[in-house]
Amino acid sequence: MNWAEQIARPNIVAMTAYSARGESTGALHLDANESPWAPPPGTAAVAGYNRYPGQQPPALRQRLADIYGVKPSEIAMGRGADEAIDVLVRTFCTPGQDRILLSSPTFSFFNTVASLNDCGVIDVPGGDDFLPDMDAVVDAVSGEQPKIIFLCSPNNPTGHSLDDADILRVCEASDGLVVLDEAYIEFSDRPSFADRRPRNLVVTRTLSKLYGLAGVRLGAAIADKSVIELMLKVMPPYPVPKPVIDTAMAALSAPAMAVIERRRAILMSERDRVADLLPRSEFVAKSYNSDANFILFEAADANTMLAKLDAANIRIRDFRSKLPGHFRLSIGTPEENDLALAAFGVVTPATQPQRIGETFRTTKETDVAIRVNLDDPGEVRIDTGLGFYDHMLEQIAKHGGLGLTCVVKGDLEIDAHHTVEDTALALGSAMKQALGDRTGIGRYGFVMPMDETQARVAIDLSGRPAATFKGDFPTDHVGEFAVEMCPHFFASLAQTLGAAIQIEVEGENSHHMIEACFKGVGRALRPALAVSGTDMPSTKGVL
Ligand SMILES: *Cc1c(COP(=O)(O)O)cnc(C)c1O
Repeated sequence: MNWAEQIARPNIVAMTAYSARGESTGALHLDANESPWAPPPGTAAVAGYNRYPGQQPPALRQRLADIYGVKPSEIAMGRGADEAIDVLVRTFCTPGQDRILLSSPTFSFFNTVASLNDCGVIDVPGGDDFLPDMDAVVDAVSGEQPKIIFLCSPNNPTGHSLDDADILRVCEASDGLVVLDEAYIEFSDRPSFADRRPRNLVVTRTLSKLYGLAGVRLGAAIADKSVIELMLKVMPPYPVPKPVIDTAMAALSAPAMAVIERRRAILMSERDRVADLLPRSEFVAKSYNSDANFILFEAADANTMLAKLDAANIRIRDFRSKLPGHFRLSIGTPEENDLALAAFGVVTPATQPQRIGETFRTTKETDVAIRVNLDDPGEVRIDTGLGFYDHMLEQIAKHGGLGLTCVVKGDLEIDAHHTVEDTALALGSAMKQALGDRTGIGRYGFVMPMDETQARVAIDLSGRPAATFKGDFPTDHVGEFAVEMCPHFFASLAQTLGAAIQIEVEGENSHHMIEACFKGVGRALRPALAVSGTDMPSTKGVL
C-alpha cells in the first residue's frame, strides 16, 4: 500500500477501477459500441463526437500540466473544481466515520459535500475581519486529525489570501490530506502551490473564473500521482466531454491566453479601482481587501442599496444568512463596474465606453487572437513569429493610436502567407467589432507623402470593403516577408473591417516602402477612428 492508499477509504482501495477505453485512435474501433457516424449535422464541428473521449484526454491534460507546471499524471480533470472536491471526499472520507476541517466563512460547497457524504465538519471559525486563526487551525488539525482539511486562498467570500508558511504548517500537522482551493489564484500576486506541493497537499484549479469557461465545466485537482490514481477510480467513466475538450483547448492556446492575460490585468486593476471607490458609498459600512475578482462588504443601509441596485437591474450576492449585513460584489468590465458604482452613488459612468473588439480565429493553418482597443493606445503586444511583420503591425497601432494585442501561431514552416493573411482578416474583424455602429467617427483619413518614399493613403470606414494598391517594389522579399503580402494584407484588412483602403507607394527600398504603407494606414486610421460627436457620418444614416 502506498501512503495515499493508507489514508483512503478501504473499500475504494480494494475496488477494481472501471476499465474505460482509451482515446480513439486511427484504428477501426469496434470496441466500445459507439456509432460509426458523427451525429447530425455531421459537420467538422462534431467530428469525433460519436467516439468516447479518453478517461483523462491526453492533449488537454498535457496542456493543463504545462500551464500549471506539473506532470500530466498529477492532474485529475472533471466537471469543474467542484467535482474534484466532491471526488476527494468520496475517495478519502468513510461516511459516518471521517471528518473534514474548515475555517468559516469559506466556500460553502465544502460543507455541502461533507453533508452529502455523511462526514462531520470541524469548523475553526475566523476571528476579526473573518481572518482565519491559523494557530487554532493547526492545533485542531494536530488534535483531531480530520481526514481532509479544506483551505481556500484567495478565500471565497472574503477575498483574503493565506500565508505560505501557514499552509505548510497545516500540511505538516496533518496525517490526512490538505486541499487548497485556488479557484481565484490567478487574480492574486501570490504564486500557486500547484508546482511546489508537499506530498499531502492537493491543489484545485478551475477554468471557470479567469478563463470565462464557467458554463463549460472544467476544473482539476493537482496532487501526488497516488492520490490522482485513487480519484480516477471514483470518477465516473469519461468525465470530460468532447465539446468541453475542444472548447478548452481553443481557450488555452497560446494566442488566446495572451488575450486572457490582458483581461486578467484589466480585472485586477478594476478590482483595485472598485475597492478604492466602493467605501465612499453611503451604502457601504465596511469593505474587505480582496486578492480575487470580487469584494466582500458590509452594507450600511441594505434595503435602500438593494432598491438602487434593483432599479439598475444589477444583482449582487447576498450573504446575510451567514454573515449578517454582508454582500459580495463581483468585478465586471470597466463599463459594468461604472454602472454598479453609479448605483452605489460613487461615480458617473463614462458617456463613451471604450471601443474594444476581440477576435479568435483558429484554422488548421493558423491560430490568431487579437484584441483592439480604439480608445487606449496603452496596450500593445504583438507576436506573430515574423519580426518584420510585428514591426509593421506596431506601426498601425502606434500611428493609428490604438491598443493592439496580437498573438499568432501560424504555419510558418510553410511560409508567411497564411499568418499574414489570417492576422489581417482577424484584425479587420476585431476593428469592425470595436467600431460598433460607427456613430460619431471621423470616417475618412488621408496622409500625404513621407520622406524620400512617398506613400499616399486614403481610408473610408464606409462599411464596404474595397482595396486598391499601386506600387512596384524593387525586391521580392524583405527578410522572410514577401513584398506581395503587403497589398494582400491591406486587401484582407479592408475585407473584414469594411473599409475602402487606397494606397499608392513609390520608392527605392522595399523595407521603407512597406513601412510607409503601414505607418500611412495607421495615420489615416487615427482621424477616421476618432469619435468627435454623435452624428452618423453618412447621409444614409447608417454605415
Ligand atoms: C467558483 C469556485 C469553485 C468552483 O469552480 P468550478 O470549476 O466552476 O466548479 C471552486 N472553489 C471556489 C472557492 C469557488 O469560488
